[in-house]
Amino acid sequence: MDIRTQAALLAAIVTLALAVAALLRENRSRVFTVFAILAIDLSLFSVAICFLRWPEFGFAETWWNRLAVASGSLIPSAALAFYLEFLGVARRPARRARNAMLAGSLGGLVVAASPLIHVRLARFAVAAYVLFGLAVVISVLLNRLGSAATRVERARLRYLLVGALVAMVLSAAEVLLPASVNYPVEGLGSISLTIYMFFLSQTLLRHRLLDLHEFLGKIVVVTALGLVLATVYGGLVSWVGDRRELFYFNTVVASFVILSLFEPLRHRVEEWVVATLFNERYELVRKLELIRDRTATVIDPAELAVTVLDALVETRRVTHASLWLLAEDRPGFRPIESRGPAPAAFLEPAAARALMAAVAAGQKAVLLENLVRRMAELQRLLPAGPAEAVARSGRMALAAVEAELKRLSDARAVMASMKAGICMPLAAGDRPVGFFACWDERVPEAFASDEIAALLEVADRCALVIENSKLYQQMKERDRLAAIGEMSAGLAHEIRNPLAAIKGAIQYLDPSKLPVEDREFLEIVVDEVNRLNGVVSQFLDYSRPLKTALVPTDVNEVLSRTLKLLQSTVPHGIELVADLTGQPQRVLCDAEQLRQVFINLAQNAFQAMPGGGRLTVTTTVVRDELAFWREGARRPDQVEIRFSDTGPGIPEDERERIFVPFFTTKEKGTGLGLAICLRLVKAHQGTIVVRSPPGGGAEFIVALPAFRDERTEPGRAATPEDLQARQRRRERAEARLRRRKSRRGS
Ligand code: ADP
Repeated sequence: MDIRTQAALLAAIVTLALAVAALLRENRSRVFTVFAILAIDLSLFSVAICFLRWPEFGFAETWWNRLAVASGSLIPSAALAFYLEFLGVARRPARRARNAMLAGSLGGLVVAASPLIHVRLARFAVAAYVLFGLAVVISVLLNRLGSAATRVERARLRYLLVGALVAMVLSAAEVLLPASVNYPVEGLGSISLTIYMFFLSQTLLRHRLLDLHEFLGKIVVVTALGLVLATVYGGLVSWVGDRRELFYFNTVVASFVILSLFEPLRHRVEEWVVATLFNERYELVRKLELIRDRTATVIDPAELAVTVLDALVETRRVTHASLWLLAEDRPGFRPIESRGPAPAAFLEPAAARALMAAVAAGQKAVLLENLVRRMAELQRLLPAGPAEAVARSGRMALAAVEAELKRLSDARAVMASMKAGICMPLAAGDRPVGFFACWDERVPEAFASDEIAALLEVADRCALVIENSKLYQQMKERDRLAAIGEMSAGLAHEIRNPLAAIKGAIQYLDPSKLPVEDREFLEIVVDEVNRLNGVVSQFLDYSRPLKTALVPTDVNEVLSRTLKLLQSTVPHGIELVADLTGQPQRVLCDAEQLRQVFINLAQNAFQAMPGGGRLTVTTTVVRDELAFWREGARRPDQVEIRFSDTGPGIPEDERERIFVPFFTTKEKGTGLGLAICLRLVKAHQGTIVVRSPPGGGAEFIVALPAFRDERTEPGRAATPEDLQARQRRRERAEARLRRRKSRRGS
């Protein structure tokens, strides 16, 4: 077996593997099927060529001849079908070329199957047809190259065309020239065909030209590596001759050398190829790594934006870069910093929707070039008429094609306004808090996959910094509030004493002895002193440690009494409705404290409805079945008490803050009511949450664990008394144990 034969066998195996890989693809589109057919045909042809040159092998030469002629004559048809499908050429205009090819292939099959196979002229005719057919395929590619719309498409087609020409010329030379002709490099035709088919299969998978560059780079790496290792191996074993024992010994030595050399060598060669062929890329990735390290200590988003964008601009790989954050004053995104021509000043939520949809679908980066390519693909489907469009797009109905086109064109418009070629969401959890965008408008595909990966890492780092800065702000705010709280408690004490003196002094004034005007002033003084006293008491209540005396109590009863009490203070125009469960709902509580919670909630609701409305108070029991199944133990049922009003509701950004002490939106509010409620409810092992649907209205839900008497109701939660008794028992047992030990020791 000579090298040409071996190379043909290699081509047969690789092309067959590529065909199988294409056929095994999930949701395989038509182009993969046609590719598989072409690959199988080439594989059969290579098999035939291989065995024709390897006469010792089994079958008679005629059969291999027949297979070579049959599979060879099918190559032009299969290649044309593949390229037409791949390039998306409509079927009708290409019908004549297809039919001519099919006729030629049929002729070839007739030659292969009949005695004509022995006629030299017939065989030449088939070979001439194959060459002619392949020339037609090349002309189709050339034609398409002339009408290519984008630079990327043109470059891609150029690669395909040059590759096809090289593979065709070398293969034809290898097959047609007799073995006696001194061919420059043995087996080059089959090898070039194998590489070209591999390249073609990658072109189907990789839509980005840069990925193809990268792929070509890998081929260079592998080839260089292969040559170096082959030299090592060849050097070590070639001088051995037919001394077998030396051959094995040297093979083992060569294997050791190769194994220890492989990794460092691969690393070096790869670095060398990337640094020489893709120098810019190498620099950018390195710079992005530096940016990542540099931002490790940054906490302020503005500083982060300056650091990242300046470093990016320094690489000269971008013409535009910007960092966008969620605006605080209204819904939408705003660029906090940008380089290059300024992007839009604000991104409305409607405009950002297309990007958010991509993010929600799990896309880590949105690339302009991908949008443009996908749009071009979809647009090619549209003019072919609805029926064909449906068939061509494979299950995707025309309406869906149009909807996707609209979504893509929206996304493209947003990216144009952001001046973004690549847009990466800065994710906090599952929602984006901003975007990191950059663009190099000089080239259609600016960033290769490894650059995009490095950019994504920078985006991740930005998201982290932004989240950290928020937490830091919250912590600062909390510290500030804690300091204010402490100061106010001191201040309240200072105010309380003179206030008591003022109150005492006022009592000595007899209003009946004062003139009418002065009486009014006295009333104002009394009112305001009382109000001030109330505020100060609330402050002190909040700052004092809480003492609770929990006893099993019926919530419904506490509620009814509180509502009765409130009835006289319900403002005009407000309806107070109570919908309590029929049965008593017992919880462990301090009735007085619970009443304070209910009064606060009701009064807040009254104040939220100055123009009238309705406050509905309900109680329900909620059983946590899920926890029961998950934890295998019964968690106490929850008694939920809801206060729902028909007021304006609470805006989303305020909802998080209403429980923070001193947060108020009222002119005369203290901002302590809800903070006290939260504290009291927590002391009862309960929770309090607020809901405010977009239509208006606020609903406060207080949930308390239901109380069950263990003696009558199994599964009851332990009461504080139970816990204390248990603790005492444990202490007594431990004391006994200690005594016993000390006795034994003495
Ligand atoms: P204050 O009533 O003194 O303002 P709170 O802690 O009781 O203090 O309430 C804090 C804030 O929560 C209020 O200023 C108000 O903006 C908001 N709030 C509370 N309850 C309601 C409600 N039912 N409807 C609308 N907003 C409410």
